[in-house]
Amino acid sequence: MAALLDGKALAARVRAGLAQRVATLGFRPGLVVVRVGEDPASGVYVRNKDRAAQEAGFASRTLHLPAATTEAELLFTIAALNADGAVDGILVQLPLPPHIATEKAIGAVDPAKDVDGFHPLNAGRLASGLPGLVPCTPRGVMHLLAESGARLRGARALVLGRSQIVGRPMAQLLLGADCTVTIAHSRTDDLGAECRRADILVAAVGRAEMVKGGWIKPGAVVIDVGINRRADGTLCGDVAFGEAQHAAAITPVPGGVGPMTIACLLENTLDAAIARRGGA
Ligand code: NDP
Repeated sequence: MAALLDGKALAARVRAGLAQRVATLGFRPGLVVVRVGEDPASGVYVRNKDRAAQEAGFASRTLHLPAATTEAELLFTIAALNADGAVDGILVQLPLPPHIATEKAIGAVDPAKDVDGFHPLNAGRLASGLPGLVPCTPRGVMHLLAESGARLRGARALVLGRSQIVGRPMAQLLLGADCTVTIAHSRTDDLGAECRRADILVAAVGRAEMVKGGWIKPGAVVIDVGINRRADGTLCGDVAFGEAQHAAAITPVPGGVGPMTIACLLENTLDAAIARRGGA
């Protein structure tokens, strides 16, 4: 029977630890989430981020701009937040409305305040093995892997998915932890064979229960990043959870990676605050 990697409980512990550190700082790290338009899923995420940040003692607020905001207006807003000394972290909630170029908005954020870790400078730092702000979801996965007790050095890790926000930075972090890393994607020849070799399997595809039990190596540690909605409205991951009981450990969906993403947003914000304010 696979051990359950409880991301909700781990995230609560991480957030409690952050709250303790924030309480000793003498200032409240400032996080601003910029939301443009009315994407319904974004509304839920943004509220959850705000609540978690406030509970941990951060000065968090959401700047909700109308859907008709122009690209120039958004860039102007971001520039103002860059210049605001009380703001340590800026997160531009995606997706943006189609008339705004996502890469321009991300590129406009001061890399020192880029708590999503999406700015090309931070992505380049990660790829170069240099310190910088790291995307929240892969950072959360590394916490879950540490919690699992999995041996990373020398282990074969497979990352399923190569997006800028999950797959690629995930692979870089695993490489940095001395895994032997393979990245698979929609053009990979034999996904099943690649997965079966993996001691660590991180699925970030966005396809409901695509990873079958027969793809999972006995004793592997399986991290399921995917969030998919079934026809009946319930949520599931990219891994067929019920078929994965021969794994050593697996994250549930929901309650696995998702809560860790928010906890790591707060970690990034605290890191950014301390770095900006000269190691307070
Ligand atoms: P993207 O759609 O940006 O990337 C998906 C990746 O999966 C791509 O690299 C794509 O390959 C690959 N892929 C798609 N279909 C297949 C297939 N049939 N076989 C093999 N590879 C495939 O998604 P994200 O990375 O943004 O997110 C992935 C999942 O993780 C989603 O379900 C998302 O909701 C979830 N997510 C969860 C978070 C959390 O906090 N838990 C945070 C962020 C995302 P190619 O590049 O070739 O097109």
